[in-house]
Amino acid sequence: MNADHEERFRRIAEDYLDRPGSDYAELLQRGQASSPEGVEPEEWRAEIRAKARADKIRVITIRHGDRAIAARHRSVPKDQELAELTVALERSEILRGVVERARQLGHEIGRWLRHDDEGIAICTRCPARIYVRFHGESRIVDGEALDESCAS
Ligand SMILES: [Zn+2]
Repeated sequence: MNADHEERFRRIAEDYLDRPGSDYAELLQRGQASSPEGVEPEEWRAEIRAKARADKIRVITIRHGDRAIAARHRSVPKDQELAELTVALERSEILRGVVERARQLGHEIGRWLRHDDEGIAICTRCPARIYVRFHGESRIVDGEALDESCAS
């Protein structure tokens, strides 16, 4: 992994350890969250909406295949809101593709830790890592999990 990416990976992981967050905490912090792999999306949406109602926060949630995405509802124009959700969906699709690549090398990737335009993940069976950064239409994708076979 490139040294800059390694540094970012470490920072994001440390931030997370300092402030372990649920998906709801991530939604509050980042303005968006997506349902983790293996979680029933409708249950996840219901849980997020219930917490938001309790906090009197407006959220919108959408279902996309076997995932769901939630975003804080802010006073932005409708078309802009849709554009933001579209970007969130596209990014979640890209991350899925990255996980699939790692799986083909035998890795089992846990959940993503997201930080603004960046995301990190690790293999649950070996120390292989993944670092992703989105730059508008392009992106950086780096990590051992994408070019080395799982050591387990
Ligand atoms: Zn592995």
